[in-house]
Parts: sequence; C-alpha cells; structure tokens
Amino acid sequence: MLVDVLYLIAAVCFIFALKGLSSPKSAFYGNCCGIAGIVLACAATYISLDISSIAFTLVAIAIGAGIGIYIAGNVSMMALPQLVAGFHSLVGLAAVLVAFAAYCAPGLFSIVGIHGICKSSLIEMGLGSAIGAVTFSGAVVAFLKLEGLYRGTAIPVFVNAVLLSLVLCLLTYFVATQSTIAFVILTLFSFIFGVTLIAPIGGADMPVIVSMLNSYSGWAASGIGFTLHSDLLIITGAIVGTSGAILSYIMCKSMNRSLLNVILASGQSGFDQESTDSLSKSFKNGSAEDIAFLLKNAESVIIVPGYGMATSQAQHALKEMSDILKKEGIEVRYAIHPVAGRMPGHMNVLLAEANVPYEDVCELDKINRDFASCDVAYVIGANDVTNPAAKHNPSSSIYGMQILEVEKAKTIVFLKRSMGTGYAGVDNELFYAQNTMMLLGDAKKTTEEVIKALQETV
Ligand code: NDP
Repeated sequence: MLVDVLYLIAAVCFIFALKGLSSPKSAFYGNCCGIAGIVLACAATYISLDISSIAFTLVAIAIGAGIGIYIAGNVSMMALPQLVAGFHSLVGLAAVLVAFAAYCAPGLFSIVGIHGICKSSLIEMGLGSAIGAVTFSGAVVAFLKLEGLYRGTAIPVFVNAVLLSLVLCLLTYFVATQSTIAFVILTLFSFIFGVTLIAPIGGADMPVIVSMLNSYSGWAASGIGFTLHSDLLIITGAIVGTSGAILSYIMCKSMNRSLLNVILASGQSGFDQESTDSLSKSFKNGSAEDIAFLLKNAESVIIVPGYGMATSQAQHALKEMSDILKKEGIEVRYAIHPVAGRMPGHMNVLLAEANVPYEDVCELDKINRDFASCDVAYVIGANDVTNPAAKHNPSSSIYGMQILEVEKAKTIVFLKRSMGTGYAGVDNELFYAQNTMMLLGDAKKTTEEVIKALQETV
C-alpha cells in the first residue's frame, strides 16, 4: 500500500517536472520535482525489495551512476544529441531483455494462466520487445548519423511497409501460439525494421527523429511496466511516449512536414546534392568595424543564433555586445528557431547560460513579423534556419521548413567561418544578396572584434 502511494506521488512529481520544464523561468522548479520523483520512486522500490536483492541493486546502481557521472562530466555540448540517442537505445534494449526474461521465467513475473502465459501478457511482451528492438537499432543508427560515422542509405518506402506488415503478422502469430521461434523472429525483424526506418532519414529531419525515438523509448518502457506490473513505469513511460510524440508533432509543424512523411522518409531524403559552387559567386566581405558601424546606427537589431554560436561558444560575447547596444538605446532581441543548433532547446540553454533575459528571447512565430522593421539581422552561426530555399525551392531537402525570415531585414550580417553549407548541405542564396554582409571567422572571435570596434566608437 505504502509503495503504491509513493509510486503515485512520484508519478505526479514527474508530471509537474514536465510542466516546469516547459518554460525556462520554471525549469529549475521542474528539475526539482523530477529529482524528488526519482528519489521517491527509488525509495519505494527499495521498500518493495527483499533484503537479498538490495545489495545486488545497489551495486548495479553504483556501476550505472559511475558510468553516468563519467559521461556527464566528459560529454561536450555538441555531442548531446548523440548521447540522447545512445540513452534511448539502452531503454529499447532493456525492454527487449525484460520481455525475454518474462517469457523464459513467466512464474517469476506472475503471468502464468491455465493455458500457459496469459494472452494479455503475451501482447505486452510481444509489443514491448518489438518496440524496444525498433528503438534500440533505430537509436544506434541515429547515433552513428549524428556522430557523422554513417551518412545514411536510401530505402524504398515499400521495404518498410513490408517489414512493418511482417512484424504485425509475427506479433499476432506469437500471441496466438506462444511460439518461441515466432518471438525470436519478431524481435529480429523489429531490429531490422529499426535500421531501415531511420537509415534513409537525414538532413533537416534528424531532430524529429531524435524526438520520435524518445517517444518510442517511452512506449517501450510502458510496455515493460505492464510486464513487471509496475504502475509507475507504465505512467512514466506513457508520459515520455506522449511528450516525445507531441514534441515531434510541434517540430514537424515548424518544419511544415507531416509526422508520417518524416517517419516514412517519403519526402526529401535530406541528402541534398545541390550545387555548392559558392566560391564562384560574389559576396560582400565585411570587417568587424563595418559591422560595428551598422549596429551602432541601427534602432532595432535581431540576433539569430545557430549551431555555429554553440560550437564557438559565442553566447557570452553576444550578451556583452547586446548590453553595449542596449546602453545606446538600441532594441536587441534574439530569434530562436525550433530546430536551430543540434538539439531541441539548444539555443535557449546557451543563451540562458549567458544570462540573456528571457523576455529578449523570441520564438519563430512571434519574431518573424518583426524582421521587416528591423535594421540589422545579426545571424551568428546559423544557416539552414534562415535559408529562403525552404520557401521557394521544391527540390531542396529543406523545402517546406518554416524559416526565420531574416531576408526581410534592411541589412543581414552573417558570421561564419566560410561560405560553406550547414547541416542539410544546402547553399544559402542570402550570402550573395545585395543587403548581406559576411564576416568570416570563428563566431566568438569575430563577435569579440565587433565588441572592440563598438567600444572604440560609442
Ligand atoms: P546549420 O548547421 O544550418 O549552420 C551552422 C553554420 O554554422 C554552418 O553553416 C557553419 O558554417 C557555421 N559554423 C560552424 N562552426 C562555426 C564557428 N565556430 N564559428 C562560426 N560559424 C560556425 O545550423 P542551424 O542552427 O542554422 O540549423 C540547424 C540544422 O541542424 C537544421 O538543418 C536542423 O534540422 C539540424 N538539426 C537540428 C537538431 C535540433 O534538434 N535542433 C538536431 C539535428 C540536426 P562554416 O562551416 O562556414 O563556419
């Protein structure tokens, strides 16, 4: 009874944690709720264990915590999406292992009926194993792609349709017959399906896939919860599953793609082969002094951060520059694209780290109408999220994605190291526009040069 109550309170804590994490202002409170939920869940689990298994569990937790602390201490901000994908794969693998453990020793899990394992448990373990296997292999492929170790392979949609049908048929057969061979083949096919599902997806769709895998791992955990008769796991798995699915939906909406289209990779493959003969086109190459001149004569400046700001860690310099401009009475705001950087919320986290006020940070829908009245769009290490090809070039892999409409600003300044492309590999026509000035170099270094030039003139 006590254990059930503690589990229920823990589940409520997780719901409040999610609520808190939905805004930077309440994120701290959300994190505290999440930590309280985990502590309660662990305490309840210890209470329900017999003494002999506590020592074993503590050793397992100590090893896991040690590995976790090591990874957290050493992972770079840039590698977080890969890390998240790696963690999803572990949840998937755990679901498969629990399903097989339950199948091999049903008595221990109290799931044996008069005619063998209960039908409902067969459904749970079949589904749990299938979703877990798809999550595991899919997350491994996503990890390899995000790490740059694998570029992807085009796989026709019908292959995935056939594999999905096979998985569903095997699942039905397994539930009807409790056949070991069917269970093993079902899991093997699910592993293959995970690979063929994620392998063709690339470019601008990767953030959605990371979020979808998050959702799958939640459903896999929920499946384990049914097998283990753990209400907490069922609830938290469902929370992760639905929140991941909602996040994927929101991201698809901002990229103007349908979720089904992304999952089946039936639209653009993401491997853009557009011409990138950027060197042959002419562009305006400015200096830090030129940019400082533009900024100090502006009334309104919108900063558009992207992946390059993150790699160069330019957020603190950016904040310093904004403070100088604000002191001069210039309005400064930050425009955040939902898929800027390499993980959801990437830019928000970095700007918060640099103490940029929340009220200066604007989401795409809110800020887009203001570019037309802005004097300078200061695009720092962002590329795809500003590329107008997304609006007018149906053959581009980013076509249909909503962009930050920096082209409407009076002047656009791009800070990047070269004329190269961004994540989706698509050339950006704005680099060569009449009202664009390029400032080439590491974003932190060039922003510091702009600050120096501003300090010398204001
Ligand atoms: P992009 O990848 O489009 O562009 C980043 C730009 O930053 C590059 O063109 C690069 O140009 C420049 N850059 C890199 N390092 C530096 C540096 N040290 N100093 C200055 N510039 C630098 O990034 P965006 O943020 O515009 O778009 C995000 C892209 O990533 C989208 O395509 C999105 O779909 C994808 N994605 C997003 C994820 C998410 O969850 N947010 C996850 C996975 C992918 P150069 O090399 O010339 O310097």
